[in-house]
Amino acid sequence: MLRAEIIAQCLAMNEAGLNHGVSGNISARCGDRMLITPSGTDYTKMTREMIASIDLGDPEGAFEGPLKPSSEWRFHHAIMAARSDVNSIVHAHPIYCTALAMARKPIPAAHYMVAIFGGADVRCSGYATFGTKALSDEALAALDGRTACLLANHGMIALGATLDQAMWRATELEVLAHQYCVSLTIGGPVILDDAAIDETLVEIATYGKQDV
Ligand code: 13P
Ligand code: ZN
Repeated sequence: MLRAEIIAQCLAMNEAGLNHGVSGNISARCGDRMLITPSGTDYTKMTREMIASIDLGDPEGAFEGPLKPSSEWRFHHAIMAARSDVNSIVHAHPIYCTALAMARKPIPAAHYMVAIFGGADVRCSGYATFGTKALSDEALAALDGRTACLLANHGMIALGATLDQAMWRATELEVLAHQYCVSLTIGGPVILDDAAIDETLVEIATYGKQDV
């Protein structure tokens, strides 16, 4: 079920233009293991059996599955091990997030929706080579207290309690990045102050929850 959901979200991510080709990867917590997409695999040809499984307690990341796990398994693994609030992770190279990441620009509080990522900004990590422990360390630091970050000269990461929530955040992050880029071309946004973001953080905690 979870494996089928991962494939569906990979296909949806590319159809929505959030990601292109075989870059990008998705993981989901499954008990004390993590399911993660295989490396460099065409999503349209991906089957449930191809998805790799890694023990979250194993720092070496020994995997089960017929194909090598995503080259980015290290940051998926480190984030899931460190953050009990996270059950799913989306990594992609969307155009506007990546354009900002190439310029190493964080996203400031240019729109109140920045609060869905946990604070007054979405940070951009320092640069490290893809797939390395150094990149994993940079990502963890940039994600402190947040549910998304940009990766310098690379792309973005979005976190969620569920796969749907991680994908929702990935989508909203790319929209926010796009809006911010356009705003920069017309003189730049007015940045909301901390009080405005603090108030938004309270209101947004129950956003979309129909039962409260
Ligand atoms: P994989 O194809 O190995 O998942 O990696 C793509 C990518 O985005 C590397 O940063
Ligand atoms: Zn990547």
